[in-house]
Amino acid sequence: MNVVILLGAPGSGKGTLAAELARVPGIRHLSTGDLLRAAVKAGTPAGLKAKAYMEAGNLVPDAVIAELLAENLDADPDTHVLLLDGFPRNVAQADILADLLARKGVRLRGALLLEVPDDVLVARIAGRRVCPACSATFNVATLPPKVEGVCDACGAALVTRKDDDPATVRHRLQVYAEQTFPLIDYYRQRGLLHAVDASGHDLEPKIEAALRKIHD
Ligand code: ADP
Ligand code: ZN
Repeated sequence: MNVVILLGAPGSGKGTLAAELARVPGIRHLSTGDLLRAAVKAGTPAGLKAKAYMEAGNLVPDAVIAELLAENLDADPDTHVLLLDGFPRNVAQADILADLLARKGVRLRGALLLEVPDDVLVARIAGRRVCPACSATFNVATLPPKVEGVCDACGAALVTRKDDDPATVRHRLQVYAEQTFPLIDYYRQRGLLHAVDASGHDLEPKIEAALRKIHD
């Protein structure tokens, strides 16, 4: 199993991209945001602890995330590439990941950074709609569903995420700048960083090229 981290600000398109890539057999998408939202919805102990942090746009405590991740990171013989989306989000989590992978005998192959200017991020998040039933993500401006307000995949009514309101978005971008941005240097220093210009729409070919480079 090859682990590849997706790095990028909220709205950089990590989730959408990973979901597209995960249609390729052998590629699996693991999103800590999706795991947490599922835990909140199911009312699990982790979900109960995470809820208030998420709604405020703050990071959930590292211990909660570490446990959730350890439960979901089992080496699976059918997974050739595991795309980690939304984790790690600070240097402490990057160290936790390094330990976890070392214990499982799995190598971190690279960190793919999606670079997007701030004004584009804010616009993208404003248009974001999500499916509460299957977590599919849409965007009224760039990736509209076939029928307005309805999930293409499962037919449920789309909603706006609670933490996508403008004030919370500004706060999340600030949290990203303070806590997650330092990971760019962290992975660059370890020779693992691959940056991709993700401001345009047609991202998949660029990412596939970057993933091939990470592989070889
Ligand atoms: P986005 O990338 O758009 O910010 P995510 O779905 O990745 O959205 O995350 C949503 C929220 O879930 C975050 O604002 C945070 O509260 C929580 N979260 C997700 N991943 C982590 C993580 N690795 N560490 C701490 N909190 C996390
Ligand atoms: Zn759906």
